Amino acid sequence: MKVLVINCGSSSLKYQLIDSDTEQLLAKGLCERIGIDGRLVYQKTGLDKETTNLPMPTHKEAIGFVLDALTNEKTGAIKELSEIGAVGHRLVHGGEKFKKSVIIDDEVIKGVEECSDLAPLHNPANLIGVNVCRELMPGVPMVGVFDTAFHQTMPPRAYMYAIPYDWYEKYKIRRYGFHGTSHSYVSQECAKFLGLDYNKSKIIVCHLGNGASISAIKNGRCVDTSMGLTPLAGLIMGTRSGDIDPAIIEFIHKKEDLSIEEIMDILNKKSGVYGLSRGLSSDFRDLDQAADAGNSYAALALEEFAYEVVKFIGEYMAILNGVDAIAFTAGIGENSAEIREYILSRLYNIGIILDKEKNNQRADGNRLISPADARVKLCVIPTNEELAICRDTVALLKK
Ligand code: AMP
Repeated sequence: MKVLVINCGSSSLKYQLIDSDTEQLLAKGLCERIGIDGRLVYQKTGLDKETTNLPMPTHKEAIGFVLDALTNEKTGAIKELSEIGAVGHRLVHGGEKFKKSVIIDDEVIKGVEECSDLAPLHNPANLIGVNVCRELMPGVPMVGVFDTAFHQTMPPRAYMYAIPYDWYEKYKIRRYGFHGTSHSYVSQECAKFLGLDYNKSKIIVCHLGNGASISAIKNGRCVDTSMGLTPLAGLIMGTRSGDIDPAIIEFIHKKEDLSIEEIMDILNKKSGVYGLSRGLSSDFRDLDQAADAGNSYAALALEEFAYEVVKFIGEYMAILNGVDAIAFTAGIGENSAEIREYILSRLYNIGIILDKEKNNQRADGNRLISPADARVKLCVIPTNEELAICRDTVALLKK
């Protein structure tokens, strides 16, 4: 079956067409600047990327152009739209309602709308993609895959905040966690790669990208994760602060006469390694270069980022009471041998052994970076959220 995977944001939309039988990527791309002017990027596998400026006042035109590109006579990946057997949508927040992926119907749409309070920027944008696809591809089954669903197995002691209980009851304020599709995919791939029984394994997944999160997975179920009610919590990120003392918000509100909204904007967009490096960059490659050239702020940003990951790994090894494997994924996790070495070499005395040579080798695909006989296996597992969405879509439709 050919599955179209859609990740719809407020002014952009990413898509991939995947053959679920072979798991081959047939085409991919994105629409940018929707509602502003509009730009379509399209690439059929094996051909060059094409970028075209096209008017996209709404997501309807954008998805229309994607479908035109996919069926284009010369460069299309399919001949007719009817070849698309299903659409898998990335949905950000499923609250406590959605613990698994679901086939989308009117009731599901209502449920996702009800969770919009918890992700006001993401859920409404995701639903626009769903509604437009339903309109343009009537009769094609749609599946929703939630960023939060994988973490729904956390026990209350991991997801409850120590705040008045009725805030949870009234507003559902709790830890939800994000990047769930990636944590689920990477932990399963990791177990498969190492020959572990997923249902009898202890795995820590470090998803280190521009957004970063870490999770502890026991017997295939998430037992804790670093992001919280929102993706602002946990590790230091590109521009997000991660965990801070909540009293800082009131303190800076008084000192700088900033509103809560302005402070939250700074914590989301001007903090993290960007803030620590005095606004130099949120990109780890720029920070690496600057640190090598002697910039002490960039060096501190990188060191502190890695230090926080060390702390979380230690914490998660403790709550898992040991670990079989630690997997690194996403832009930094997959590509930065330096950051991995910084993190893992600091865990040597608690039984984590890195093979530095393997860690420094550049290679695609899943790979081991610990000695083959190490008790705790360390590995790099490239994430593939689109493939995970495609797999869930097909699995649900087969049921
Ligand atoms: P993601 O959000 O998963 O796309 O990851 C983006 C982050 O990965 C950016 O901060 C990039 O700087 C970082 N990244 C990508 N390639 C490398 C690399 N070779 N070395 C260090 N960081 C990298």
